[in-house]
Amino acid sequence: MSDYVRSVMAEVKAKNPAEPEFHQAVEEVAESLELVLDKHSEYRSAKILERIVEPERVIMFRVPWVDDRGEVQINRGFRIEMNSAIGPYKGGLRFHPSVNLGILKFLAFEQVFKNSLTTLPMGGGKGGSDFDPKGKSDNEVMCFCQAFMSELFRHIGPNNDIPAGDIGVGGREIGFLFGQYKKLANEFTGVLTGKGLNWGGSLIRPEATGYGAVYFAAEMLATRNETLEGKTCLVSGSGNVAQYTTEKLLQLGAKVLTLSDSGGYIYDEAGIDAEKLAFVLDLKNIRRGRISEYAEKYSSAVFTEVDRSADHNPLWAHKADCAFPSATQNEINAKDAATMLSNGIYVVSEGANMPTEPEGVNAFVDAGILYGPSKAANAGGVAVSGLEMAQNSMRYSWTREEVDQRLRIIMKSVHEACVAASERFDRKGNYVDGANIAGFIKVADSMLDQGVV
Ligand code: NAP
Repeated sequence: MSDYVRSVMAEVKAKNPAEPEFHQAVEEVAESLELVLDKHSEYRSAKILERIVEPERVIMFRVPWVDDRGEVQINRGFRIEMNSAIGPYKGGLRFHPSVNLGILKFLAFEQVFKNSLTTLPMGGGKGGSDFDPKGKSDNEVMCFCQAFMSELFRHIGPNNDIPAGDIGVGGREIGFLFGQYKKLANEFTGVLTGKGLNWGGSLIRPEATGYGAVYFAAEMLATRNETLEGKTCLVSGSGNVAQYTTEKLLQLGAKVLTLSDSGGYIYDEAGIDAEKLAFVLDLKNIRRGRISEYAEKYSSAVFTEVDRSADHNPLWAHKADCAFPSATQNEINAKDAATMLSNGIYVVSEGANMPTEPEGVNAFVDAGILYGPSKAANAGGVAVSGLEMAQNSMRYSWTREEVDQRLRIIMKSVHEACVAASERFDRKGNYVDGANIAGFIKVADSMLDQGVV
């Protein structure tokens, strides 16, 4: 690490104590940028790196609501408006008990570079709450969403900040949030993405992140004249991203062996086919059950409960060609990465945000496998959110095929941008540096153009 990057990191850690995920995300980007900052003194003299790590605005608020028993509940709400150099703030809302300021700052920071890679004009943001939708009734989820939006609505809008879903925020939650925004603002606009099809949503938005992560893997494989056909795949998670990653893998002739949730994972040696996937969609999206029920239904599958004392995740210890981590951050540690490499995994396409710990990332990059980091591989979700915004502005909807085609083109462009940047800065084959550099340059140049604001 250069002295300059070391001093920026020291400042970031001192100013943002107890935010390890934010430090991790910044450090990875800063390390990738060393060469760029050495060659381009204009970025250093304008203090672009120092500015880009500081959110433009952080909003933190109380969310009081009443549960079904009549008891008052208090959660904490956040919106991080990280960077608006290339467009309005754009990024999801996460509802999960682990949500805190540092986690949302890491996600908002990553979002800035990801959105830049999509080729669309979107700045970066992220938000959410420590509210846990799990085990809550539909009425409780609605009450919470209305209380959350009662404060958030004054900070967002279709031209300045457009939230979407993330962990714990799917179609149901976006519906309740949109309803409350519409009531308070007295206007029907595209202020959120991931909306229902009857009220301004885009076809393919639910599928986009998962499909995009698979398209990105296909692009990486194409550099070696290979396809996904016949490949065996490990997928983690069983939510939105995992579901549509699995669907697209099946369509392209791959075999999916695993899925998980926070209670454990299933390994199905026969593979998860379309009928079994339909069961998972119903289980997770309608009945809101646990993945362990999959193994009760299908005898070819084995369920392994999570062991919180273990130093590794056994899901990653199965033999396969490809891995699609699609649950949450830091779900692959150094030990998992070493096992995956020794088991022959040579494609990793990250649907989840920052699912691999830094030592794991280094192991993948050093091994020279096809490793697609999250800010590139999962950019398809926000890209189709951008397409949803475009359709809302036109008051017009594209067909399924049109949106899917645009998503494919965008994922191809993201891949090409990573390859081009990595080659320009002598890091051929390194998608981590490629994504960080390509994402950074567009935002940094825009910040230079717009002066010190
Ligand atoms: P989701 O529908 O809520 O599903 C999340 C899945 O991950 C669930 O199976 C959940 O299990 C599991 N999970 C969550 N936290 C976990 C933890 N701490 N330990 C173990 N398992 C955990 O969310 P999603 O939209 O699929 O998001 C998954 C990942 O993709 C996240 O990293 C998100 O930031 C990223 N991402 C999402 C989008 C998008 O468009 N949705 C776009 C880009 C990136 P439980 O149900 O048991 O909690």
